[in-house]
Amino acid sequence: MSDLTRMSAADQAAALAAGEVSSVELTEAHLARTSAVDADVHAYLDVSADAALGTARDVDARRAAGEELSPLAGVPIAVKDNIVTRGQATTAGSRILQGWLPPYDATVVTRLRAAGMPILGKTNLDEFAMGSSTEHSAFGPTRNPWDLTRIPGGSGGGSAAAVSSFQAPLALGSDTGGSIRQPAAVTGSVGVKPTYGGVSRYGAIALASSLDQIGPVSRTVVDAALLHEVVGGHDPLDATSLTDPATGLVEAARTGTLQGLRVGVVAELGGDGYQAGVRASFDGALDVLRAGGAEIVEVSAPSFEQALAAYYLILPAEASSNLARYDGMRFGLRVEPSEGPATAERVMAATRGAGFGDEVKRRIILGTHALSAGFHDAYYRAAQQVRTVVQRDFAAAFAQADVLVSPTAPTTAFPIGEKIDDPLAMYLNDIATIPANLAGVPAMSLPSGLSDDGLPVGLQIIAPARQDALLYRVGGALERALDETWGGPLLDRAPELTEAQR
Ligand code: GLN
Repeated sequence: MSDLTRMSAADQAAALAAGEVSSVELTEAHLARTSAVDADVHAYLDVSADAALGTARDVDARRAAGEELSPLAGVPIAVKDNIVTRGQATTAGSRILQGWLPPYDATVVTRLRAAGMPILGKTNLDEFAMGSSTEHSAFGPTRNPWDLTRIPGGSGGGSAAAVSSFQAPLALGSDTGGSIRQPAAVTGSVGVKPTYGGVSRYGAIALASSLDQIGPVSRTVVDAALLHEVVGGHDPLDATSLTDPATGLVEAARTGTLQGLRVGVVAELGGDGYQAGVRASFDGALDVLRAGGAEIVEVSAPSFEQALAAYYLILPAEASSNLARYDGMRFGLRVEPSEGPATAERVMAATRGAGFGDEVKRRIILGTHALSAGFHDAYYRAAQQVRTVVQRDFAAAFAQADVLVSPTAPTTAFPIGEKIDDPLAMYLNDIATIPANLAGVPAMSLPSGLSDDGLPVGLQIIAPARQDALLYRVGGALERALDETWGGPLLDRAPELTEAQR
């Protein structure tokens, strides 16, 4: 078989089932690709070759013994490093967790292991998933495989870069304000934020608990659906877990049509401030939706203009509380004060001072301020009120349309270093992705084409809560139609990672 790493996860699974390839061969091919390109891309913080090959050998033996296996058994995967893996370093991109070995697996990891999926390694991210470029990782940035001088999005730039540079067919990400979808958009990949509660958060290192969701990163919509079905479903260990699992996702992705679908274009997402090449690609995709039989309607969600501001109060408020546990006593780093007595408070201050990066400190300060007695009503409470109005605007929009669409991000991948010193410019990347998190509704980003700068553009589809299958129906149909107009997957057009780029 030619290049195994270029195959979709679905094709890899089919080849495994047909006995044309072994999981060991697949796993070795991806590890070899990582050896060849990851010094440049830096998608991984930790590669677990031995463990991955152990899983691969085991699943090959089980298949040989005629055991009935999960649909993705033997297909390797990468996992974002804010999802805990038992006995394997999990840093969340932070110095404060360096050296910590989790004593347990996240539920999604337990499910990957039960499905027989070799875990290739842990992927890079902005520290504690705070950021839109992966430049806030304490361990150095990840680079965009389309252009190594540009960002791969964030916070899950590592997962998106691993998938788009063919180091892994699949990855898990986490999405609190867009960290699965925006990296997918700027790397030409597919990313899905499931309905809040649809995938267990047990073992996901908490950023903002009311917004966080784990979800799939992949190169095709069907592949995302396959992974979503493996990791999704009720988990008694997560108090916010939905009891009814999202089902029929793969079926919807494979067979969905656009006929009779009402697609709402959100007036507030996609106008001024969006790069011309992004808008052109988005408009092109609308034509393809129309040609496929969908009706395009314009909908308005005025509160989306305030969503970003509300998010950047709610997120820091929750994060400041979640991050209080990193006290120098329980996890990872512990720093003694340079002088004076090592009281608990002083050890805590020294550890947090040394262990957290600037963006994390900025958000802790912002969050504790927004929650403080004198300011709580003016900031946190006001933000929660906006959140309620965002949810109402979604309800009104979904009365007029089955799904909503927008560009996923306002620009294509920007140069590394361009926004790192300008937090507000960095936050603006999330303008289109944040409303779905505030409302808990599912959303997907898939490639809509290339901008005039030659870089990939993402289109976002948003569905009502618990209608994840509808996302896959629309995404699958749109992807098939777009691939036809381009003559193949967009990622086939990514430049090879050659000497010339280094
Ligand atoms: N870019 C957003 C932020 O910095 C998204 C974070 C996320 O989804 N984890 O908060």
